[in-house]
Amino acid sequence: MQIFIADSSGFCEGVSAAYNKAKEHRDIYMLGNLVHNTQVVEKLKQQGIKVIKDINEIKDGETLLISAHGVPPSVYEEAKKKKLKIIDTTCSWVKRAQKLAQEMVEKGYQLIIIGDKNHPEVKGILGWSEGKGIVVSSKDEGENIFSRLQDKVGVVAQTTQSEENFNEIVKYLQGKVKDLIVHKTICGATQKRQKAAIDLAKKVDVMLIIGDKMSANTKRLTELCAKTGTPTYQIQNKKEGEEIFPRLRDKNKIGITAGASTPDWVIKEICDIISVS
Ligand code: SF4
Repeated sequence: MQIFIADSSGFCEGVSAAYNKAKEHRDIYMLGNLVHNTQVVEKLKQQGIKVIKDINEIKDGETLLISAHGVPPSVYEEAKKKKLKIIDTTCSWVKRAQKLAQEMVEKGYQLIIIGDKNHPEVKGILGWSEGKGIVVSSKDEGENIFSRLQDKVGVVAQTTQSEENFNEIVKYLQGKVKDLIVHKTICGATQKRQKAAIDLAKKVDVMLIIGDKMSANTKRLTELCAKTGTPTYQIQNKKEGEEIFPRLRDKNKIGITAGASTPDWVIKEICDIISVS
């Protein structure tokens, strides 16, 4: 059995920077999860970082950590009122998407955000568009909305969207909108990871995608690899790795990749199980 690891996998620059910054602190509050990975969040909790769901759970003057996914402007305004100290780990790619969304709305464009409406990053981008953006996750989901579009439309994407989905929606809009501005805000790390995962999936007998079920970019990697026709399994932790192993016994080439929020130590744990089994 041979194991191949995708060229780009695991922690991206944005997650790495956020995690390293968070590691320097104790007794602070984190709004939501720093990244969508249970093991990472648990480590931070153990060192004394508390997770809150709402900014009102934090007392005035305390320190608030903003995750790599970013937040809407209302959070900064509220933090200012409460005199909170801010540690802002919003990824620069996310900031770019927020800024472009804000600009397009200010210029009078109807804004479409391609992404998952329940994801914190998308909620943040929506906030920067003064709540005026329309979130669509796919061409099929957007068809109703697309039939009622204005003449001026701007498009941004959640940074971890698949290029295929993004391109499909944009192609559809190109024939329908007079003045269309498209900002492909999918981040470089996502594009690299997706390409490397697809390339590898085409060469191996089975693909293992390591990462949390909460992680949007990991989910996307799993979907893209499965689409190549290669059997694909998403694994969150060592226990799931052990469960999946019996299905790999007759495979010669195993490909492995990991989402941008998956830490090295989880990738290593799972690779070790496969190597020694
Ligand atoms: S996946 Fe992309 S946008 Fe998200 S933290 Fe990493 S580099 Fe930034």
